[in-house]
Amino acid sequence: MTAELVCFEPSCRARFAIDAIIYNCTKCGGLLETIYSGDHPPTESLKKTWRERRMSNEPLDQSGVWRYREMIPFLADHKNVITLREGNTPLLESCLAAEYGGLRNIQFKHQGFNPTGSFKDNGMTCGVAQARALGMRRVACVSTGNTSASMAAYAAAGGLEPIIFIPHGNISYGKLAQALEYGARTIQVEANFDQILALVRELAEKLGIYLLNSINPFRIEGQKSIVIEMMDQRDWNPPDWIVLPGGNLGNTSAFGKALRELLAWGLIAKTPRLAVIQAAGAAPFCDFMQTRTGFVPVGHPETLATAIKIGDPVSWPKALREVEASSGVVEKVTEQEIADAKAQIGRAGIGCEPASAATLAGIRKLTAGGVIHRDADVVAVLTGNVLKDPDYIYRYHTDQLQQPDGTPIRATFGNRPEVMPNDPAAIARALG
Ligand SMILES: *Cc1c(COP(=O)(O)O)cnc(C)c1O
Ligand SMILES: [Zn+2]
Repeated sequence: MTAELVCFEPSCRARFAIDAIIYNCTKCGGLLETIYSGDHPPTESLKKTWRERRMSNEPLDQSGVWRYREMIPFLADHKNVITLREGNTPLLESCLAAEYGGLRNIQFKHQGFNPTGSFKDNGMTCGVAQARALGMRRVACVSTGNTSASMAAYAAAGGLEPIIFIPHGNISYGKLAQALEYGARTIQVEANFDQILALVRELAEKLGIYLLNSINPFRIEGQKSIVIEMMDQRDWNPPDWIVLPGGNLGNTSAFGKALRELLAWGLIAKTPRLAVIQAAGAAPFCDFMQTRTGFVPVGHPETLATAIKIGDPVSWPKALREVEASSGVVEKVTEQEIADAKAQIGRAGIGCEPASAATLAGIRKLTAGGVIHRDADVVAVLTGNVLKDPDYIYRYHTDQLQQPDGTPIRATFGNRPEVMPNDPAAIARALG
């Protein structure tokens, strides 16, 4: 198969070589998409090959991304691939969480089991492979945290120099700590995410640094594997709904592209509906989809779920098409709803970071509103690991969590540590 970069704008569709170092269409500024042409391998043999690779000791086969390399064929060869055995994330069930969400059953596809603890690894292995194939020495991103952690790890493992830009004072320590530990040059800028993105795009061009933001079409290719692996784990039976949080909307774009390609290749017979959940304080895409009167960025996005604290999501045109193509919906949830849903996911023994919990909060709202039926087959994608943001957790359980504007968040399912004297009798009494 041959790969090209194609402008996503229907009125343009300009085509570019797969090794062009561009992040937007040079004709109209539109987003770029990787498009493949030629015959794909037969469906049944693919399913068999992918299953067999799970027993292989080859690094490429052990990767939950590169195992499915026939569906991401943008590289001439695989010698530039760096794998930390990303993907391979479980589908977890929970009666407790299902009940809270108003469902009979639920499955969580937990991307927090990735090497750096978020789904960004699925995409980063592809982005870094492309950077190496292009001969780039330095890579950069702007990030609310998880992209930096992931890029730092993959760049370091691949002998590249990672440079990360983060909004000053707006990142969880777990994520910042990862970037520092993986040796990334870390630059904190006194501006919000959207402003820093504009700055870095200018710098990257001037200094010859390869940009690995979520707009990078090769990261999107890698993130398709989340859905491909999910279908493989479900023996190619698509659920009714796939629910995911929406920030920059790269993942929404990747999921939609994966579903379209899986359908076209005959690997699934129907498309699940996408439900994208945003935080109420950073919900420009939700507001746009519900009003349909022009896309208005949010000037000052506010949410404690920092991974989705995005006011001007770069991938919204793609997300719009993918949500529509899947007959999907977009919803938003409050800080209180996110915090309580997160605690429920924790109580189920699963745990996740705040942004991920928007899924269960959204499901609860969508079942209450009759959009998702109680008997529906639902997969919620938990995007990040529980330990990414321990400060949030401690504050919630000790009733100290506050919204960005100072409004307290109730510890509805709080679980305080108890202080007791060094007195066996007293402790025995307390424990009954
Ligand atoms: C990046 C991220 C998101 C948002 O994904 P987008 O592709 O930007 O919509 C959600 N949750 C977590 C944990 C993330 O790291
Ligand atoms: Zn174009």
